[in-house]
Amino acid sequence: MSYNNSIIVLGAGVLGLTTAAELSSRFPNTRVIVVAKHLPGDRDKLYASPWAGANFEPVSRDNGPAEERDAITYRKLNELLQQGHGDKAGIYKMDCRTFYDVSPEDAGVFSNGTQAIWFDRLVEGGIRYLDSDQIPLGANFGFDFQSFTIDTQRYLSWLQNLVLGKGVEIRRGAYSSLADLFQRFPDAKSYFNCTGIGAHHLGDVKDSSVYPVRGQIVLIENPREPVTRQYVRVSPQADNGGATYVFPRGRHGGIILGGCRQEDDWDGEVDMDLAKDIMQRCCKLAPELGKPEDLKVIHHGVGLRPSRRHGARIERELINDNMVIHNYGAGGFGYQSSWGAAQQAVDLLSTSSRL
Ligand code: FAD
Repeated sequence: MSYNNSIIVLGAGVLGLTTAAELSSRFPNTRVIVVAKHLPGDRDKLYASPWAGANFEPVSRDNGPAEERDAITYRKLNELLQQGHGDKAGIYKMDCRTFYDVSPEDAGVFSNGTQAIWFDRLVEGGIRYLDSDQIPLGANFGFDFQSFTIDTQRYLSWLQNLVLGKGVEIRRGAYSSLADLFQRFPDAKSYFNCTGIGAHHLGDVKDSSVYPVRGQIVLIENPREPVTRQYVRVSPQADNGGATYVFPRGRHGGIILGGCRQEDDWDGEVDMDLAKDIMQRCCKLAPELGKPEDLKVIHHGVGLRPSRRHGARIERELINDNMVIHNYGAGGFGYQSSWGAAQQAVDLLSTSSRL
């Protein structure tokens, strides 16, 4: 069977599904097929999307396309809220309080060639620096800003329903190479590669600059008194990679506690000593959580952030005369860059002679 005029999206994480959403709204008369080994509802260390915090706090500092991807996503999340999708999609707007244990220069918070945090001009109310009496012991500086948290379970199934509603087909399938995919779906107009950490192993790609940054989280029940803001503490010198965060998922979706950033670590097992350490760090960071021993744990989890040494890859490539558009390598920022990444990837199709 020929798939002439179809577009195939390999991968059903946040990037694959958002790319499918973008494709279906820009090319409503084109058949779009998402095919993936893991689909929303599945849990696997190699399927990063369910494990994310996930909050919006840009780490892009390129004064260019990566910042643009985050900005597009922030505006889109705002738009989805205004359209009434908030609770249905698991998108919650709330302040985020971030502390850094090192100076702004050492933390690298400024954009290339500037002395400014770029998203100051993006977020409502800008960045509000904290006074010294609001900064905990050991931290160097901190600020509040208007951010989002995403309840990944709700959001992935909402995204899946969104694209199914637009006529996108979603199929289960595992491919050892792109050649394998081309053979299964011959003559498609283009193939989007949204395989996350899978790009490390996928034949015809085998991107050795893709590597895991292990993350471990604890999902707890909301305490009786709501936690009304997110907390982040960035401690680059810490053994675990220096990420402590508390991300409430609305009033009733529980709270994600994290975390760690363990580079090149493929271990998918929960480390219970690390889990205890995470709970202690989080209770210190957000005293309204109470004591670690009183937290009501729903589950522990481990996910591998699909990082890439040269940053995310959003690129067009002709492989054996098949048009491939890569959209992977989003590390710890796949949600907060998702709508911008999908837009830039689909732009590459729009500007190709294959359309
Ligand atoms: P994935 O979600 O991993 O999806 C990859 C897809 O490709 C899957 O469907 C898989 O089955 C499929 N696939 C791969 N290879 C093949 C193959 N050969 N054949 C068929 N299918 C294949 N991001 C944020 O923005 N904010 C946060 O606060 C945040 N916190 C995080 C905390 C943790 C603990 C972790 C682990 C991640 C966090 N992230 C966060 C990062 C975010 O989760 C990822 O960037 C994002 O999920 C990557 O999405 P993806 O679609 O590229 O990959």
